[in-house]
Amino acid sequence: MIKFGPSGNSIAFYNAGLSKSEQSPKWVKDMGLNAFEYSFGRGVNMGDDKAISLAPIFKENGVEISVHAPYYINLSNPEEENIEKSFTYLTDSAKKCRLLGGNRVIFHPASQGKMKREAAFELCLQRLNKFAEIIKEQGLTDIIFCPETMGKLAQIGTVEEVSEMCLISENYIPCIDFGHVNAREWGSLKSVDDYLVRLNYMIDKIGYEKMRNFHMHFSKIEYSSKGEVKHLTFEDDHYGPDFTPLAKALKILKLEPVCICESSGTQDVDAVNMQMIYGSVDNL
Ligand SMILES: [Zn+2]
Repeated sequence: MIKFGPSGNSIAFYNAGLSKSEQSPKWVKDMGLNAFEYSFGRGVNMGDDKAISLAPIFKENGVEISVHAPYYINLSNPEEENIEKSFTYLTDSAKKCRLLGGNRVIFHPASQGKMKREAAFELCLQRLNKFAEIIKEQGLTDIIFCPETMGKLAQIGTVEEVSEMCLISENYIPCIDFGHVNAREWGSLKSVDDYLVRLNYMIDKIGYEKMRNFHMHFSKIEYSSKGEVKHLTFEDDHYGPDFTPLAKALKILKLEPVCICESSGTQDVDAVNMQMIYGSVDNL
């Protein structure tokens, strides 16, 4: 089943006098949504007790929880000593995600740094191979790890690169951030076909099963010559992308992703918007 929800708490959530994670699931449910992404972007700093106490609240409200791993993961880090830290950020996120009752960990794969693109990407693939072993060693095979398509040109994470990554392990499925794809390609996503081309490429490359319930991030994003600048809201009518052609493409291909809206501050109402658009488009 396709799911929609926000990444983190919106401005309206705080304006309503709410502030606690315990209050997020009901807020999401009351808006008619059924997914929520919790960010460990600045570190996996939630205690086990807290995660265990939140799990039944998400469950009771019918909200699927996913977590975003720390932003400072860099699987192309040339320093071998530092790579263990990235692995630990991923395993810590996974263990906390499991306590929260979820099974999806989203992560930003890598930065190119001073390396040539091919060398950085090759290193990233090697580390993902190694991490696939760690997943088994640590008994984390129930967790899905989602490398994300990235918005800045200097980041590893094109549609092609993320597809390649997902071939490495059964535990890897893509997080396609269409705002990022659009930003790094300077506004490339406009028509239904623009989405179909990319989705079909990924289906051909990694198989329909892995794509059926892929993970999605969506927001409009300002971009410059270097790609992503900042996340916008659905008010934007300049940078895009628009959700309507994507909703049509999803229906045509019968794909039912977990759709996380990352609008800046309005991520909950914009997720409702996405859900309504999806419900109103026909697949012809
Ligand atoms: Zn992300």
